[in-house]
Amino acid sequence: MALLSIKPRPCTDPNCRGQHAPAERVALAMSLCDARGAQLTKLRRKILELLWESGRPTGAYELVEALKLRDSRPVGPPTVYRALEFLISQGLVSKIESRNAYIPCAHPERRHDCLFFICSNCGAAIELEDQRLEGLISEDAALIGFRATRRVVEVEGTCARCIAAGAA
Ligand SMILES: [Zn+2]
Ligand SMILES: [Zn+2]
Ligand SMILES: [Zn+2]
Repeated sequence: MALLSIKPRPCTDPNCRGQHAPAERVALAMSLCDARGAQLTKLRRKILELLWESGRPTGAYELVEALKLRDSRPVGPPTVYRALEFLISQGLVSKIESRNAYIPCAHPERRHDCLFFICSNCGAAIELEDQRLEGLISEDAALIGFRATRRVVEVEGTCARCIAAGAA
């Protein structure tokens, strides 16, 4: 990806379905980290690029393999896990616990809960933001005096494309 030529364009559409060009989202991640004084190192950026290019939840070992193909220098799983932890801490990546896999967050430029619809047939994960759900989680958490640290909702099922193709 020729990142230097790409300008990040923060998204202001509240109904956006996250259809952004991967290169633009990576450029946006770089400018967000810059503004926060966080170090988006070459390896961290490469992993973010791989996740955007993958288009579906990707496991750490898949990333290790993909990095091996891209560079001649192998990178060990602990290094990849540390990079993923950083990306998660910056809100750039979400972990899909049910898959033990990682996916880039469509809108790291705005605070939101991540709601993922995960297709059990093709493995796609579609991210939505829904203010109603976020309000509900906040209200319920307040009700029981709970302080949420990870707000990711995973819904399993079959995606529209797979349904149209006759799979389940
Ligand atoms: Zn958007
Ligand atoms: Zn998100
Ligand atoms: Zn599907």
